[in-house]
Formats: sequence, structure tokens, C-alpha cells
Amino acid sequence: MNLQKLIQDTNRPFLVTGPCSAETEEQVISVCKEIAENGNAQLLRAGIWKPRTRPDSFEGVGEIGLPWLVEAGKQTNLPTTTEVANPKHVESALKAGVDVLWIGARTTVNPFAIQDLADALKGTNTPVMIKNPVNPDLSLWMGAFERFQKVGLTDLTAIHRGFSVYKHPKYRNVPNWELPIGLKENMPHIPLICDPSHISGRRDLLHEISQKAMDLNFDGLMIETHPNPDEAWSDAAQQITPAVLKNLIDKLILRSNQIGDSLWSEMEDFRTKINILDDRLFEILSARMKVSEELGIFKRQNNITILQENHWKKIIASRLEKVEEMYLTPKFVRSIMDDIHQESIRHQTRVMNPDLLK
Ligand code: PEP
Ligand code: MN
Repeated sequence: MNLQKLIQDTNRPFLVTGPCSAETEEQVISVCKEIAENGNAQLLRAGIWKPRTRPDSFEGVGEIGLPWLVEAGKQTNLPTTTEVANPKHVESALKAGVDVLWIGARTTVNPFAIQDLADALKGTNTPVMIKNPVNPDLSLWMGAFERFQKVGLTDLTAIHRGFSVYKHPKYRNVPNWELPIGLKENMPHIPLICDPSHISGRRDLLHEISQKAMDLNFDGLMIETHPNPDEAWSDAAQQITPAVLKNLIDKLILRSNQIGDSLWSEMEDFRTKINILDDRLFEILSARMKVSEELGIFKRQNNITILQENHWKKIIASRLEKVEEMYLTPKFVRSIMDDIHQESIRHQTRVMNPDLLK
């Protein structure tokens, strides 16, 4: 099968749904039939080998579960996918008749493992979906695609499942949307699917993350679905029933990224205004850096250090006091101030140590 073409030919969102893990034949087949009847699946997922964080967790039923997934595919007339982490998994999954393979976040992080998988698939044109690595490293994610491309695999798709952090108050894996956007910029032909289940780790956030992915023009969603989520053997807190999935998909607002001629000129008005303001912003930043250089010369002449911590703390505090009246968020103000400060230090360093930095 050709997954890229199937995604292209399907109205957004392309849905990859099914249980986190295959548990029993009855569980896999019943949930897959229900999501298919609701029209909420274009590709059926089920984990057979589970990469669990702690060794005492359920690590998947293993090979005996493959025919259950393949049977669910036959009964619904839908293609199937499972996670593979080594060449042995690849061999068993393909032999059983699984159509699409996916690579998990804990595997993408390891170039040796990715190379082994690419070598195992060389000469086949198996569709492969590659989840982002657990750490926010765009090059590492792109490197995984390149390893498959180098052995001749072209039917590749990306899955954004968020990035690992220690004790985040909201997400199980923080989305860092700039990474999938960066992947799209660098590899525009690779379809992009969002996995709100592993980003959130909790079912009450699935809707807002799915809507955000649609607004960022993602091609599809991977959402874990279970007949009885609270009793699931893995990822219980994030799975939903087929009925809840249907409700979530029905609620999504799909906006077009094609702009008609009449809307185009109205959009251009906004864009022109924004461009003018951006130009002014950069002119002001440039003028500000020139003053930083003059300040650097003054500090050099008077033998004063570049960094004046107390002064910097005061500046940050006074800016943060004004965020509300400026319609800005504290996080944005803090990060833009830090960037401006770093750039200013670079300019001052250049004029203060001209001999060192030639
Ligand atoms: C999964 O999809 O069930 C899974 C284990 O995903 P990830 O690799 O994103 O943790
Ligand atoms: Mn899972």
C-alpha cells in the first residue's frame, strides 16, 4: 500500500486509531470494528511490543497479538500498523501481514537502532511512520528520515508525540510545536500526524491538542482508543472509548489552508500591516544594538563589566509588571528580553574585546 497517497486522498484529519496495546483478540477486534463503523479510522493501530519506562509494566502480548490486529483489519477493510523497535519485530510484523510500521519515540532517539531498522527494510517499500525522538532535537528526527531515505524507502510519515520533561504540570510530553513546524519546513513532502494521546497523557486534553494540530494544518491524528479505558493494561488515563472519539472528531473545526482570490486581498491588508510593524520592530532593535555598542565603548573606557546583574533584574521586573496592559504573556516578555539581552552582550563583547574577537 501507499500511505502517503492514502493520507493525501483522505479528507483531513487522517485518523490512526485503536488501542495503546493489543490485550486480547476480543478487545482488539471489538474496538476496531466500532471505530471503523463510526468512520473514525483510516489506519488501525495496536501496540504488540510495548517500550515501557519501568520493567514491571505490561510489555505487550508479543507475536501472538499480530493475527488479532490483521484480523481486525480484514473485518473492517482497513490497513493496520504496529510499533517495531528491532529487525526481529519487522520480520514478524511483515510476515503476519501488518501494512504500516511505526517507530516509537524511544527508538528514534538511537541512530544505531534506526540504522538496523532501515537495513532490515531495505528493498521493500513498506510505509513507515516515525515518531519524534523523546528529546527536542530536530536534527535527530530528520536524521531518522534520512537513514530510511538512503536505503530507498520513500513512503515515510512523521508523528509528533511531544517531548519528555520532568514533572510538567500539564503535559505528559510537552508539544514544542516549533519542532514539527521545523520538520515541515525542511521536509515538506512528509505528511505530519499529531499524537495528542502521548502529548497529553490524559483524556481531558485530547480535544484542545487535536484542534491545535488541525489549526497548524497537520494531516492527521493518532488517538488511542479502548473499549474500557480505565481497565486498559497500558496508558489507561489517556485512552478513550469509540463513542468519546466520535464526539471529539465531530467537534473539531476544520479550517482551510487554501485562500480564495477574494479572501486573498483582505488577507494581504493584514499582512501589509504586520510587515510594516515588523520592519519597525527590526529598525528599533537595530538602533537599540547601536546604543549597546556605544555603551560597550563607554564600559571599556571606564573598565566596567558587561553584566550588571542587579540592573538587569530590575529591568526584567519592571517589564513584567506591564505585561497585562501590553496584551502580552509573561513567558513571551521574559524570553524576548533574554534574547535581546544576549544579542546586546554579543555587541558589547565585540567592542570591548576587539583584539580577542578578530
Ligand atoms: C505508543 O504509541 O503507544 C507509544 C508507545 O508511543 P511513543 O513512542 O510515542 O511513546
Ligand atoms: Mn500508548
